[in-house]
Amino acid sequence: MAHPTPGFDAMLADLVACPSVSSTSPEFDQGNLGVINTLANWLEALGFACEVQPLPDRPGKGNLIARLGAGDDGLVLAGHTDTVPFDADLWQQDPFQVKATDAAWFGLGTCDMKGFFPLVVETVSQFRARDLRAPVTVIATSDEESSMAGARLLAAKAETKARYAVIGEPTNLVPVYAHKGIMMIGIRLDGASGHSSDPSLGNNALDAMHAVMGELLAFRAELAANYTNPAFQVQVPTLNLGCLRAGDNPNRICGHAELQIDLRLLPGMDSDAFFEALTRRVNAVSECFGTRCCVTRFYPPVPPFAGADDGLLALTLAELSGAAPDVVAFGTEGPFLQQLGMETVIFGPGSIDQAHQPNEFLERAHVARGRKILSGLIERLCVRI
Ligand SMILES: [Zn+2]
Repeated sequence: MAHPTPGFDAMLADLVACPSVSSTSPEFDQGNLGVINTLANWLEALGFACEVQPLPDRPGKGNLIARLGAGDDGLVLAGHTDTVPFDADLWQQDPFQVKATDAAWFGLGTCDMKGFFPLVVETVSQFRARDLRAPVTVIATSDEESSMAGARLLAAKAETKARYAVIGEPTNLVPVYAHKGIMMIGIRLDGASGHSSDPSLGNNALDAMHAVMGELLAFRAELAANYTNPAFQVQVPTLNLGCLRAGDNPNRICGHAELQIDLRLLPGMDSDAFFEALTRRVNAVSECFGTRCCVTRFYPPVPPFAGADDGLLALTLAELSGAAPDVVAFGTEGPFLQQLGMETVIFGPGSIDQAHQPNEFLERAHVARGRKILSGLIERLCVRI
């Protein structure tokens, strides 16, 4: 009998060949339905019931929810279908054409994280619905690399039920139970321009911004003094002054200044509360200078992700992989799946060092091991229960 799905190499080549860049810059942003429909075809051939959940007001974008077996319990295997934009000049090959070597597959999204899906399809193809006492659900989301709109929609709809979720982001096959939150904030100060020879002719926004930056550094020092988590390599919350644009000429009083910062809070810290605290402090400084102040978040923050290193999923993955549960420095859709009540662990092939890089690749050895581990996981959590 012919196998109902193509082999790993052919599946990966198909997914990589289907462009699905997501970006906050509209000129780079693309849909992901090509990837979603391809996955749905393969999973339907394996007996999965597939639902495509369109993103409201985002034509060409959606999530796939594909389920084998019945019930509210079971295991979710989740990943995102989009990639980041790429620098064609820095690639030694066509980023959309997979190049296979003895050790790895090269191509855009191979590691982060289109390669996870063929691995999942091959793994689930070993199971039939009648073998499963709890369902296996494959979720493929949209826009993880930009707004996380796909995962936010899943969390808001609250329809997907399962007990456990594995997100196959590249963790070198190490189970990851926590990461910091990510919040990008813009601070704009408006003063008044005028001739530089007489400061009273205007109100210098850059003078006020200088004081605001001092306040932010004080805030950062307080966060570092009061919050720490030894599981992380950088054990304290971070606040990075990333970008400053101000004024136009040396002989004009600076009328406008805008600063962009990145705030990364530890698991357990409330994103909204710290954003409000920061806004209050910045407003107070701005008021002293008589500037108008506007503090905004670029898009809704990725909350810190705080799972458990001793949950059944984390412990089972640790046992099957031989790697102790750990934490990472990058953000994922973990908090959103956790909001659906699932024990969520990030665990996938490939290294984050290769993600978002020219000549991105996924190691063959990871895929072979990953298949064995995920197969063992389904056996434990969905078959032998
Ligand atoms: Zn990713």
